Amino acid sequence: MAGGKVYLVGAGPGDPGLITLKGIECLQKADLILYDGLVNPLILEHVSSEVERTCRVASGCKERRVLQQDEINQRLIEAAQQGKTVVRLKGGDPFIFGRGSEEAVALRNAGIDFEVVPGITAATAAAGYAGISVTHRAHASAVALITGHEDPSKPDSSLDYSVLARFPGTLVFYMGLHKLEQIVASLIQSGKAATTPAAVISRGTTPFQKTVQAQLSDLPAKVREAGLVAPSLIVIGDCVSLRDQISWFEHTPLFGLRIGITRAEEQSEPEIKRALELGAQPVLLPTIEIGPPADWGPVDAAISRLSEYQWLIFTSANGVNYFLNRIWENGLDTRQLSHLKLATIGPSTADALKQFHLRADVIPDQYRAEALAAALKPLVKEQKLLWAGANRGREVLQTELAQVSATVDKVVVYENHDVTAWDAASLQLLESGEVDWVGLSSPSIARNFSRLLSTKARNQVGKSIRLASISPVTTQAASEVGLQIDAEAEEFHWNGIFAAIQQTVSG
Ligand code: SAH
Repeated sequence: MAGGKVYLVGAGPGDPGLITLKGIECLQKADLILYDGLVNPLILEHVSSEVERTCRVASGCKERRVLQQDEINQRLIEAAQQGKTVVRLKGGDPFIFGRGSEEAVALRNAGIDFEVVPGITAATAAAGYAGISVTHRAHASAVALITGHEDPSKPDSSLDYSVLARFPGTLVFYMGLHKLEQIVASLIQSGKAATTPAAVISRGTTPFQKTVQAQLSDLPAKVREAGLVAPSLIVIGDCVSLRDQISWFEHTPLFGLRIGITRAEEQSEPEIKRALELGAQPVLLPTIEIGPPADWGPVDAAISRLSEYQWLIFTSANGVNYFLNRIWENGLDTRQLSHLKLATIGPSTADALKQFHLRADVIPDQYRAEALAAALKPLVKEQKLLWAGANRGREVLQTELAQVSATVDKVVVYENHDVTAWDAASLQLLESGEVDWVGLSSPSIARNFSRLLSTKARNQVGKSIRLASISPVTTQAASEVGLQIDAEAEEFHWNGIFAAIQQTVSG
């Protein structure tokens, strides 16, 4: 056996949360990931391996070259022979209409070690998200997964429609959208009742999920009318009728909205997750980049002089993480802080401290430097405070606390830089108005968002694109650069932005 190994991994049907734990573990250890056109790229957001898209499925990869199956097999074999850990990531389950078994045979023939990590297949996932239980004690005792790719009217079809028409359960057709008319006609001709409940689910489990439900004979016309696109599943059987009671995903609070996330990309994972939970599609529009300080010297010097201070101040979760990680990297640990009082600007900064099992002594009611200064003033008279912050930021703390003869030494523990351009795909989404909302989560983000907008994209703001601000200070900064805010958070964090959007769209 060669040194490398290939994992044939199911990525699930679209919702990036529907990959298995084992699948994620494989992605984390992979040197190379080859993924197909059905895989949601958000799954790959946080992997550091080399990734290549093979795109066996037509949608969404028009400009790229589509690899033939032989080429994919060859690529897998070669990479494994070089000793690499390779993940072949496939939409849904690799062995359900996924040609995963052909890849497995090719690997076995080449003497390559492999494992199969099953995935959640479209039939159960898209049906589940559309409120259709494909088996049901009263309605369906069996379920058939069928390829709709073959033309049922051709004599060489391997499917016998008279058998399918008599099948005592739910029929689920994959890859059948373009043959919907023929499939429906063949089933009805073979004796399936024209009144059988049926549905087509398009882009199931994603914020763009659309379901059209009709009796079998009316389904093709209704689906064409609704303009459903691939990938779509056809589900036929009595269990579809329960959809009225079970449907849930299409009622999530921000269902189908595309929401621009302007935070640094490295940090947007919680917002991506939250957007998806609410049924929205996150669109990454980072306006700033976060990284280590250009020079650790002053940080290391401050760490060695911690005994001179009575207070340590953090005004962001980044500050906490960069500073405490640096202490650790210097061979020390949190015992260095045992004599210090800890102040944070708000709850998420305090949560970051909690990750290190440290409790904040001061968390002001309002997430603002002024509020932090006011909370500290009575406590820090003539004391020395160390502020672990970013390369930019306001001077409020120094000037306010000087009034009680306290000294605030600021040390830059991370840097915050403006992004100079968005990638072409993101800009294109803005220019064509394919973003419904953009969340602006600080004054500098608002200003930089404005700077990054092309004229065409700016023209969409206020029309197709609406803006949500995290706080009055941010709203003010936005209006100074000519951006009008459509919703403002009541609580000054990203969840507040989501809540404000929800309130505006529902109210
Ligand atoms: N291995 C995949 C199927 C690949 S065949 C799986 O197990 O799900 C591709 C077909 O799967 C599409 O033509 C469509 O019929 C179905 N499909 C995949 N993802 C889908 C989705 N999110 N919504 C609806 N159908 C989907």
